[in-house]
Amino acid sequence: MSQDPNCIFCKIASGKIPSKKVYEDEDIFVFHDINPWAPVHFLMIPKQHIASMAQAGPEHAALLGRMMVLAPKLAVEQGCTPYPEGGFRIVCNTGTHGGQEVHHMHWHVMGGPRPWLKG
Ligand code: AMP
Ligand code: ZN
Repeated sequence: MSQDPNCIFCKIASGKIPSKKVYEDEDIFVFHDINPWAPVHFLMIPKQHIASMAQAGPEHAALLGRMMVLAPKLAVEQGCTPYPEGGFRIVCNTGTHGGQEVHHMHWHVMGGPRPWLKG
């Protein structure tokens, strides 16, 4: 699995940096955002180092599809009110103009009653 030794999210996915884990399997790691904007706010990452959504290619389609199908299940497990009264928001900041700060692809999944701090 390709990892970047200098990448903070690679280190979180491999357990070298501690995190509040939500879910893990062979390919996917999910953990709480350290600085939440919403009552529920976790991050979903592939364990392999993909710098951003801009690098997603056909070889990642199955992985990204699995992540997408997992998101609603984890959102409800983490306390989001079910759709349609509740629901959640998925955000994937990509590149400088997209507001990306950590260059390991990640999806913010946010939910819970409003108002939120951001988002
Ligand atoms: P982005 O602007 O989309 O790159 O957002 C990066 C997100 O990663 C921010 O919401 C940070 O709060 C979050 N973050 C950074 N370092 C950590 C960490 N060690 N554990 C959990 N979340 C983190
Ligand atoms: Zn990485």
